Amino acid sequence: MYTFPIQYHEPLFRPPSEGRSLIIQITLGCSWNKCSFCEMYTSKSFKARKEEDVFTDIETFLPYASQITKVFLADGDPLVLSTPRLLRILAKLNETFPNLRRISTYASPSNLSRKSMEDLILLRENGLSLLYVGIESGDSEVLEAIQKGETYQTTIEGLNKSKEAGMDASVMIINGVGGLHLTKQHALNSAKVLNATQPKFASTLVLTAHKGLEHYQNRYKGEFIELTNSQLFQEMKLFMENLKLEHTIFRSDHASNRLVLKGTLGKDKDRFLQQIDEAIANPEGDAIRPVIPGY
Ligand code: SF4
Repeated sequence: MYTFPIQYHEPLFRPPSEGRSLIIQITLGCSWNKCSFCEMYTSKSFKARKEEDVFTDIETFLPYASQITKVFLADGDPLVLSTPRLLRILAKLNETFPNLRRISTYASPSNLSRKSMEDLILLRENGLSLLYVGIESGDSEVLEAIQKGETYQTTIEGLNKSKEAGMDASVMIINGVGGLHLTKQHALNSAKVLNATQPKFASTLVLTAHKGLEHYQNRYKGEFIELTNSQLFQEMKLFMENLKLEHTIFRSDHASNRLVLKGTLGKDKDRFLQQIDEAIANPEGDAIRPVIPGY
């Protein structure tokens, strides 16, 4: 991991699969910063970093230039920056790191919808090829309750637009995020969004109230009743049963997942359903991971 020698503006987050990437902060925080479940950037005000500071950070890694093959742009939603500004940063990365194979970032469906198709194609042609999109749910009522600022429709539009521009997406769904009242529609509509967008990667994690359940309930618009483990597995089962994916690499192996699923959908769907059924039948069995403190 290339974390030395620049000074990051903490807290710093990146997807698990970017563990060996160079992280460059081009914005700080998240311009939305309202999602009920998210505490990632609540300690920061959103701002774009000065271009000269970003360039200085990039140049600091010149001694390691040939080793750097992947770059992740942080923080929460760098795509709020104008396309010309993003293109200047991508050009700087490409000229500094001759072996660069992939540039990735977090993105929201709205970020993607606000860019023109021409802009998205230009960004992809200049190396931005993978987007991590936390869609959380495909259900508009759940999205409203968690203050995501997206709907079923905007999520599909944003994801399909980036796909048409040639970018890959890694999408994430939160098991249990809508609580007991909305569990069925959360499962069904999340599956529908994935079916309509056929992302390259998909994953689920389990809702974790980092500041306590009451804090989450206060930020949730409506009555939130937390799912039991067994109800979380039932929700996963309904979601999985309704997925019609052609070739999506699927992972539910985040620290919050008590049942680990890894494979490719659709080929591994029956195996996943069998694993979920076993978890429902034996929620304290060997296949179930213990709760990890903090998750
Ligand atoms: S858009 Fe992402 S980073 Fe911003 S508040 Fe929501 S979940 Fe957190």
